[in-house]
Amino acid sequence: MLCFASSGSQTRFTFEGSKDFQQIIDKSLAGFINRKEGGLKVRNGASGWAHRITDMIIVLAKDISEHAKEIIRTYVKERGYHIREQVLGEDAIIGATGKGQIDLREIGLLPGVERVSATAKPYELASRETKPEDTIVSVGGIAIGGARISIIAGPCAVESRAQILETAALVRESGAVILRGGAYKPRTSPYAFQGLGMEGLEYLKEAGEREGMPIVTEVVSPELADSMKDLTDMFQIGARNMQNFELLKRVGSLGKPVLLKRGPSATIEEWLLSVEYLLAAGTKDVVLCERGIRTFETYTRNTLDISAIPVIKELSHLPIIVDPSHAVGIRAKVAPAALAAIAAGADGITVEVHPEPDKALSDGQQSLYGDQFERLMRDIEALAPVVGKELLRTPRPHVKTSTTLVLQTEKPVSNSIAFSGESGAYAEQALMRAFGEEAPRMMAPSFTAVFDAVLDGKAGFGIIPVENSLTGSIHENYDLFLRYPDIAITGELKLRIIHCLIACEQAALDSISIVRSHPQGFAQCREFLNNHPTWKTEAYNDTASAVASIARTGDLNLAAIAGEAAARAHGLKILRSGIETNPRNYTRFVIISRRNGTATIVPSSLIGDKQPNKASLVFSVQDRPGCLFECLKILSERGINLSKLESRPIQGQPWQYLFYVDVNIPENPSVFNDAIEPLKAQAANFHLLGVYRASA
Ligand code: PEP
Ligand code: MN
Repeated sequence: MLCFASSGSQTRFTFEGSKDFQQIIDKSLAGFINRKEGGLKVRNGASGWAHRITDMIIVLAKDISEHAKEIIRTYVKERGYHIREQVLGEDAIIGATGKGQIDLREIGLLPGVERVSATAKPYELASRETKPEDTIVSVGGIAIGGARISIIAGPCAVESRAQILETAALVRESGAVILRGGAYKPRTSPYAFQGLGMEGLEYLKEAGEREGMPIVTEVVSPELADSMKDLTDMFQIGARNMQNFELLKRVGSLGKPVLLKRGPSATIEEWLLSVEYLLAAGTKDVVLCERGIRTFETYTRNTLDISAIPVIKELSHLPIIVDPSHAVGIRAKVAPAALAAIAAGADGITVEVHPEPDKALSDGQQSLYGDQFERLMRDIEALAPVVGKELLRTPRPHVKTSTTLVLQTEKPVSNSIAFSGESGAYAEQALMRAFGEEAPRMMAPSFTAVFDAVLDGKAGFGIIPVENSLTGSIHENYDLFLRYPDIAITGELKLRIIHCLIACEQAALDSISIVRSHPQGFAQCREFLNNHPTWKTEAYNDTASAVASIARTGDLNLAAIAGEAAARAHGLKILRSGIETNPRNYTRFVIISRRNGTATIVPSSLIGDKQPNKASLVFSVQDRPGCLFECLKILSERGINLSKLESRPIQGQPWQYLFYVDVNIPENPSVFNDAIEPLKAQAANFHLLGVYRASA
């Protein structure tokens, strides 16, 4: 019999009857009770006077005293419960399990209790009831969960040093953010390749470091977990070991992120209970991985349980990714399964990729070729916004952050200076201004090629445009500094840009129908072009290449927007000069060189015997109010003048920004040097792009 009486906002339950019925009542009474301004608020169901509760979670107030905690412990224990204390996200909690009689509202009134909930879920730490917001797991700085899709890729097994280095470079190039590879392979047959063991893990680590990717590898025994701990960024617990409870307890106690695969015959509840083992042992960072379950269907290796994704999302706050490779076991079916997983809300995938799948020592039949993986990445990138997410790509702008620079004026590795474009390019004019008319130079087909030439040592210096006084920053080049942490800014130069309309000798204004230039050239001559509305524009990598292309054809319909030097270099005629909208049109170029540890080589022509008086920095801020202000305050308090502040979105991390800052270094450089440590402490990432002499 179930009786209830209602008085005001409170409802009171009593019950008599069978044990089963009582359990049903216990479950239906599960709910949150919030303490609010001294009163009680019942959420998500009803509550009763003292009744049997098997599991409950008490979330403690942030400022709770040790004394108040002790009162709670004693209160709960005296009523027949075992307690566990845990930190979950930002919250300290006491979990209690038992078969006692307890009135949750009384606990809610104890000092230091933020809220209390009875839960019918046996996996309370993993449960979304306990922690409503998504957990974001960080693996060596790479985030999994929330609004991003993170891709783990690599071979089934590490087979040799060369194989893993090659695969790492291949998957990195396509945008994978974490490298996988089995060193210990749990194989169905004892005669199959068992993995290279510790040696394999060393190779995996080397490959990860070389490509700047964190690594994940499977651990198969509690003893091995200890020795693998310092080598891997994330442990994988394989499907076959999902219920190896001793392994779960040991790995969970090591505090490293864990990727827990679903057992081939495990229910979702069993899987979440295994997650609970890991969380109860101490780790907070668990990612679930659906990898297909065993069904009556034998066409595919397993059956991918797509519905597990939304179910886990509802039941748990932890991220879930999918392994399409082991789910389907057939190469051609891997990509469709991966895309379905993303569409269903997965936080990422882990996928097997091999440079030569036909020669793979394990799981070659389900490993993707490099070009298939590249295609899959593009498809995931296109699909991500449909589910409100963004593919995480190359998100480690500051792998090798450098915070100090020592200037050297000794000879660079090569005399040559790289610039982007053909002869006559504005960059070449800037180069001649900085290094002299006769300076040895090399043309590069793109800005990236300039960075590559300097990094490889083929060029001692490079020169690239970074901003224009009319059209603003050239973001492509700012982004390149993040991709090339070993390249530093070592000088700067401002060049006035006078654009000309350039064409063949026989051409005239009325013969022109197509204009070629760099998009910045069009933007800076907008008014002139508006007066010729019938002209079509064609974008080129740089202004001088546009001129060169016309010189090669001799076509009278073509014209280019470029500098006078380009017209001269390619023997063409200037139809109009000074066509830029605003005569105050300046482009700022920076000279780049390769870092040598913390040292960077400065061209003596730019610095002479003077001190550097300008620095370029980049940092991102932590996600809390006032962080940018605090960073800038560090500069202003020291009287350091800011000459530029600009924000850029961080690629692959939606709505997060990097701040580019230029500052003037004061007379006494130690004032600037002393600001670096506090800035590093305050900002989330801090990278000193260079210290150099400002141009006039
Ligand atoms: C693996 O990812 O290498 C693996 C063995 O997968 P599973 O444990 O899912 O079979
Ligand atoms: Mn495999």
